[in-house]
Amino acid sequence: MGKNDASSESMMISPTISDSQLRLNDYPIPATMKAWVLGNPEELTFVEKPVPQPGPAEVLVRVDAIAVCATDIEIIRHGLPAMVDGGLPFNRGFTPGHEYMGTVVRLGASVDEFEIGDRIAVEVHAGCGRCRRCREGMYTACLNYGYPKKGHRANGFSTDGGFAEYAVNSVNTMVHVPDDMTDEEATLIVTAGTAMYGLDVMAGIIAGEGVVVIGPGPIGLMGVGVAKGLGAQPLILTGIIERRLEIGRRLGADAIVDVTKEEPVAAVRRVTGGKGVQYVLECSGAPNALDEAARMITRGGRICLAAFPADPVPVDLAYLVRNNIYVFGIRGEGKSATHRAAALMAQKRFDAKLIHTHTFPLTEVPTAIRYARERIEDAIKVVVKVGEN
Ligand SMILES: [Zn+2]
Ligand SMILES: [Zn+2]
Repeated sequence: MGKNDASSESMMISPTISDSQLRLNDYPIPATMKAWVLGNPEELTFVEKPVPQPGPAEVLVRVDAIAVCATDIEIIRHGLPAMVDGGLPFNRGFTPGHEYMGTVVRLGASVDEFEIGDRIAVEVHAGCGRCRRCREGMYTACLNYGYPKKGHRANGFSTDGGFAEYAVNSVNTMVHVPDDMTDEEATLIVTAGTAMYGLDVMAGIIAGEGVVVIGPGPIGLMGVGVAKGLGAQPLILTGIIERRLEIGRRLGADAIVDVTKEEPVAAVRRVTGGKGVQYVLECSGAPNALDEAARMITRGGRICLAAFPADPVPVDLAYLVRNNIYVFGIRGEGKSATHRAAALMAQKRFDAKLIHTHTFPLTEVPTAIRYARERIEDAIKVVVKVGEN
């Protein structure tokens, strides 16, 4: 990446960055920018605020596109899981949004990993870099989560996010975007990264092994794409929305199961000749999903929960124990899973664009969020394009 693609990408990058700006770290940065900030619950205001300054190992990113995530909706309504200075994120001038991509426009003093003009996508969590979990690569489970004074950053969760014209990112949260990938598709890298992390924690070899993905939401659908890219076979997607299941088929599912028409455990047993699969990636949050997942897998199989029900649910624990079933829970996308997901997307192993359904300008973030929340016009991934208002 570097100066050459700045001109070839002029359709996607606006404005184009000149050669002299690339050399001199002098891309013109205004003092203030437009950004959405969270006031009271459900109250987003479009304001002018200072453009942040990158620290020594950070860059300033001009946000070019950002996808709306279900977690954004949760944060705007209830605060958690966002946490700013140890408290809820309301009325602190906090800018939400975490699934963004953009262009590097200013380098911190020690940054040589990126150049001005590089197109990048971000993973959410930089972590603190000093706690035990961060040192293990589990920075999404940082023990100093929500405490920027301890060095913690998770943009859109504990530090300012991407519903704005600019954002500061640690170099450890960025991955290069290939020239032939659109801004909209690049916003989906982090979603695919979450699915990749779910498959990672099950420590699966995946290739040639059976995988069920429960729930064709954005993470579930990306889970299908990633599992396919890793060679899963058979790969089965279960869910209730027919249009989304069809997208799952196009992303590589060998079989799709509409659970309104067929009992899903029986369907998985039918597809696998009675044996069941090795891994289940649970992305639905349905109350009975864990019990169903347990009955879809072989003895000794593994389940990863990437979604959860709102209320506590009874679970047949004896079945899990008797069958030596391993259950994992993930938060976000640790251990550089985003980088591996980006590699699969760069190799075009699956077409993430299939889940992008709507696009709005930065001025219309509340509308974009409403489309995602209410699934208006069958919305799946709603993207906000910045700089095209
Ligand atoms: Zn998200
Ligand atoms: Zn940490």
